[in-house]
Amino acid sequence: MLFPLSGAPRLHGIARLAAASPCRVAKQHVEYFELPTRRYFTRCQSPRVPFDWTLNPYRGCEFGCKYCYARYTHEFMELRDGLSFETRIFAKQWNPRAFCQELERIPRADWIAIGTATDPYQPAERRFRLTRAMLEILARERGRRLSLTTKSDLVRRDADLLEVIARSNLLHVAVTITTMDEKLARLLEPYAPRPALRMGAVAELAERGVAAGVLASPILPGINDAEAMLDELAGQAAAAGAASFTGSVVFLKPCTHAVFFPFLEEKFPHLVEGYRRQFASSAFLRGAYPRLIARRLEAVRRRHGLAATFSDDLPEGWEPEPQLELAFGPRAAAVDFVMKSTC
Ligand code: SF4
Repeated sequence: MLFPLSGAPRLHGIARLAAASPCRVAKQHVEYFELPTRRYFTRCQSPRVPFDWTLNPYRGCEFGCKYCYARYTHEFMELRDGLSFETRIFAKQWNPRAFCQELERIPRADWIAIGTATDPYQPAERRFRLTRAMLEILARERGRRLSLTTKSDLVRRDADLLEVIARSNLLHVAVTITTMDEKLARLLEPYAPRPALRMGAVAELAERGVAAGVLASPILPGINDAEAMLDELAGQAAAAGAASFTGSVVFLKPCTHAVFFPFLEEKFPHLVEGYRRQFASSAFLRGAYPRLIARRLEAVRRRHGLAATFSDDLPEGWEPEPQLELAFGPRAAAVDFVMKSTC
C-alpha cells in the first residue's frame, strides 16, 4: 500500500451547516469577462479521447477544486499563476446564429462532449445562461450523441431541456461526486455544491428518464479512497437511480502542483511526502494502486447493482442517418474512458 487509507470525521448540526455554507466573501473577488469567440466547438483529434468535439461555454472555473487539472487552459491566455483560473472567468460571447452554423457542419455521428475543461454549471451560468442557450438549440436536434459532465446541481434547472434532448438523442450526464462527506468535499472543492445536492440532481435526472451517472473522480490516495467511503457513495448513487458509477485515480499535472501541494501541506501534511515521491516524475500513478482502486470500484458496483458504463440503448425517438449505426459500435467501449477523463 502506497498511502494510508482515509476516513474523515463527520460533522453534525450547526457544524455541518457551517461547513456547507458558501463562502460569499471569496466570491466577491471573482471577475467576469466576455470572451470574443470565433468557434464554440473544438475538434478533438487525439486518439486518447473518444469524443469528436468538445463544448465549453466558459474558460476558468469558480469551483476551485484543489486537484483541478484544467488550470493549464488559462495559461493559453497568459494567466499562469494557477489561481486566476478560478477568479477570472471568461464567458464566451454568444452568437446563436454562428453556433447553429457550426453545429450544422458537425456530422450527426460525431460525439459532442459538454464540460470537458470547465464546469458548464459553475456559478457564472446563473448570470450568463450560456449552457442553457446552447442546450435550447441542441434540444431541436435529433439523432446526435451528446455527453455532459458537471459538479453542480444547477443542472436541475435545465432538466426540462435535458429530458427533451434525451428523447431523441443519445445523452449521458455525468455528475461528479468525490465523497459524500461534506466537510471533506468543502476542503477539496471549496465552492462546488454539497455532495447531497449533486446526488439530488442525479435522482431528478434519472426520474425524468435522462441517463445520469455518478463519477467518483478523482480518487485521491489516503483522502477519499477508503472502500467504506466509496461504498457509501455507490449506495447513494444506486438509491438515486444512477445509470453508472465509476471513478479514476487522480493525476497531477505540473499546472496543478502550485495549488495542490500547498493545500496538502496545510490539510494533509502526513501525505505530502508520499505524493511528492509518487508524482515527482509523472502526472499519473501506475501499478498496484490503480489496480487496487479498480478492484474496489468493481466491488462496490457489484454490491449495489451498478453498471460501470452507460448503456448505449437508443431512445425511442432516435432517427439515425444511414451510416450512424456503423459509427457507434466501436464507441461503446470508450464511454468509460470519457467518464474518467472529464472534470
Ligand atoms: S475540476 Fe472541474 S469543477 Fe473543479 S475547478 Fe476544475 S473544471 Fe471546475
